[in-house]
Amino acid sequence: MVRDYHEFLGEVLVSEEDLQARVAELGREISRDFEGKELLLVCILRGGVLFLTDLMRHISVPHAIEFMAVSSYGTGARESTGQARITLDVNTDIRDRHVILVEDIVDSGHTLASVLELLSMRKPASLAVCTLLDKAERREVEVPILYRGFEIPNKFVFGYGLDIDEFYRNLPFIGVVDLQKYDGNAE
Ligand code: 5GP
Ligand code: MG
Ligand code: MG
Repeated sequence: MVRDYHEFLGEVLVSEEDLQARVAELGREISRDFEGKELLLVCILRGGVLFLTDLMRHISVPHAIEFMAVSSYGTGARESTGQARITLDVNTDIRDRHVILVEDIVDSGHTLASVLELLSMRKPASLAVCTLLDKAERREVEVPILYRGFEIPNKFVFGYGLDIDEFYRNLPFIGVVDLQKYDGNAE
């Protein structure tokens, strides 16, 4: 049974109001930076989906959207370690296009590093990263982040696209999981 999130919500880290305000700001910033150009927003499934759909409503320059999926070869389900594998690729030629990668969160950086390496080989006109959350202190590989919603502490978070075992992505805020309460009551 999927439990009510109140049972393990440690705290609300970013409220719905703060999220929406920041996402609108990022959209305006991107629109200014790419004025007169066309964009391709590439969303990394599945966590980036809510962020993408809100963000694009605040981007006034013409843009198309594409999706990629990445799975990491890792140990724990809550950490990605080492190389990531692309399981779904974009469905279009990105050569000479202005590409922005839209991610939910950058943690170790391995996921984005792999995606950036692959996409840059295809010679886009530009390639930038827009992430809603940045867990900077966890970084293992450096990734250039041009647009960042919030820097957050090293805590496992959920909501607004981010899952716990695939659920709770629908919540309109970012919450911190109290892992003791979550794991302690599991199954
Ligand atoms: P990285 O490759 O940067 O270590 O990990 C990035 C991916 O790990 C994110 O796109 C996200 O799917 C997952 N991830 C990292 N930290 C968290 C977190 O606090 N909560 C959730 N739900 N997913 C996370
Ligand atoms: Mg992600
Ligand atoms: Mg996940």
